[in-house]
Amino acid sequence: MKKRIALLGASGSIGRQTINVITQHPDLFELVSFGVGKNIDAARNILKQFDLPVFAVEREEDAELLAKEYPDKTVLCGEEGLLELARGDYDVLVNALVGFAGFAPTLAAIESDHEVALANKETLVCGGELINRALALHGKSLVPIDSEHSAIFQCLQGNRMRQLKRLIITASGGSFRNKTRDELQSVTVEEALAHPNWSMGAKITIDSATMMNKGFEVTEAHWLFNVPFEKIDVLMHPESIVHSMVEYVDQSVMAQLGSPDMRLPIQYALSWPNRLPLDEPPLDLAKVGTLHFSEPDLERFPLLGLAYEAGRKGGNLSAVMNAANEVANAAFRNHEIPFPMIETIVIGAVNEAPFEELNSVDDLIRANAWGDGYAREHVRKLN
Ligand code: MG
Repeated sequence: MKKRIALLGASGSIGRQTINVITQHPDLFELVSFGVGKNIDAARNILKQFDLPVFAVEREEDAELLAKEYPDKTVLCGEEGLLELARGDYDVLVNALVGFAGFAPTLAAIESDHEVALANKETLVCGGELINRALALHGKSLVPIDSEHSAIFQCLQGNRMRQLKRLIITASGGSFRNKTRDELQSVTVEEALAHPNWSMGAKITIDSATMMNKGFEVTEAHWLFNVPFEKIDVLMHPESIVHSMVEYVDQSVMAQLGSPDMRLPIQYALSWPNRLPLDEPPLDLAKVGTLHFSEPDLERFPLLGLAYEAGRKGGNLSAVMNAANEVANAAFRNHEIPFPMIETIVIGAVNEAPFEELNSVDDLIRANAWGDGYAREHVRKLN
């Protein structure tokens, strides 16, 4: 039986690689619906490859245009369109959306008793508590696509959670890992977008340069594996070959290694517990030669420490942090603020946010709006 896949964020980096994985295993996987943002040419290309009855785009005017081009298809649009896809008829949702926009479709998919393969880490950073509640209610679990979490997920297979000592999430340090804080003042968007190891979307590449991404991944691991923050460590590993590790009570450390190719965690999320061939050259450790590890510097990368702090305090703070980061990250990419101002804005938002418990989706929407408003105001002040 083929696994029927709904893919949100189909035109992005993870989306395109998901389609690549589906194409390589047509006997196992079938794309049944997809959503893209503003890139409607990507939608047209996907429809050349797959004859699908339904898809979604972001803007209404694009949906109207495409409805004329494809009169036999249902063209959905906006947030409601994504929710309709998430509630639709399929087996696994691959959520490759970027940012807070990914939360509601994840929740809708779980509430419709679907499996979710999650690349959208912001879902768990913002609303991990609400997602876990829904998962428990519907007897479902999330499968990670994020490479570090996929590595941990793989290292947990065949072991017992109660014998786990800690999770060790590896970090490359991003594009500015060799720069001092002083040197960050004058870095450009182009420099920030040149990640040393991974080819990824723009938002996450900037998040890697601030290590906000690694902070998000700590929070993501906390909710995904139900492990307290004090048992989650980050280890700098510039080669990005060891994708993460799990340490057990007998001091044994399990690691998952591979080339930096996101198709492996995507494919594993769809195939596990099975493994499938991948058209990637095998990892040649003799050629790699040496692997390096070191402690992260929380003064150099304050957003990593901030994510721990927000996560430990709980409530609305991680959602506020994420919202402020979304705005600040975009403002830097739009040349509105210098790079270090991303950190200033995100730290300010978390420190100044009034603490609130997060018990409902409405609470979450309010937390997101607070962080978003705070960051927008501070970006405006600088312009
Ligand atoms: Mg990652």
